[in-house]
Amino acid sequence: MSVLERFSLEGETAIVTGGAQGLGKEMATGLAEMGADVAIADMNASKASETADALDGEAEAIAVEVDVTDEPSVEAMVEHVTDRLGPVDVLVNNAGIVENSPAEETSLDSWQRVLAVNLDGVFLCAKHVGKQMLERRGGRIINVSSMSGFDVNVPQKQASYNTTKAGVSMLTSSLAVEWADRGVRVNAIAPGYMRTELVDEVLEENPEMEKSWLQNTPIGRLGRPDELRELVVYLASEASSYMTGSTVVMDGGYTSR
Ligand code: NAD
Repeated sequence: MSVLERFSLEGETAIVTGGAQGLGKEMATGLAEMGADVAIADMNASKASETADALDGEAEAIAVEVDVTDEPSVEAMVEHVTDRLGPVDVLVNNAGIVENSPAEETSLDSWQRVLAVNLDGVFLCAKHVGKQMLERRGGRIINVSSMSGFDVNVPQKQASYNTTKAGVSMLTSSLAVEWADRGVRVNAIAPGYMRTELVDEVLEENPEMEKSWLQNTPIGRLGRPDELRELVVYLASEASSYMTGSTVVMDGGYTSR
């Protein structure tokens, strides 16, 4: 098989949680471009439908409403996608939220909201999709961590977020070790600052924050969301067949300083 053929996702089924916008949408675009049928699984049903409609072409794309923090909702998502597109070969656990506040002022409610989406959500989706993959002895899971799981990035204060992302990387390694001999590979991507539409809006209101981010990013710019497409395709495909338990950092050098 040629190198290029090993990147193919022709005939595969992928779920991207939080795929309606931002990084999830870009990763879904990359997977669809390489031939996968893609389910855009998101809490925001209308935006998920828009994104799925835009991707629907040679490969099939559907929208599915899910709250990744709710186990019955996750189970229903897996059932729906399997009925519509067939068993799941690739899961991208991308849905995530951030709530910035100084630790001493962070309410327990806020702490728990962030943990629920960023950790419970990753666990629940990996559990239910993973179960199906283990039965079929094949599948790849890609969790979206962050450089914030390795480095306390500044100036924003986000202890809950940083903690969850460190947890995502350890969950990735743990699942990878448990499932390695049963055909399921689990890896993670840890992006640095990526210029999504939402990030753009935040920076417009806080130009000082952008200055600080750029000063700490050796490559001298923020990442473009589309720069994640190739990395997710690599981890989702046979191209990465000997890789499991890794978190790949893509941060323009931020954590290497
Ligand atoms: P975003 O807010 O633009 O998109 C997140 C998506 O997740 C939204 O469509 C939202 O509706 C969905 N979502 C939120 N809660 C959900 C839930 N409970 N169930 C289902 N869907 C839910 O975010 P983004 O910037 O594209 O980030 C995507 C992922 O990448 C997150 O895990 C984030 O932590 C991570 N990340 C982002 C950056 C960045 O610079 N943007 C950097 C590092 C890591």
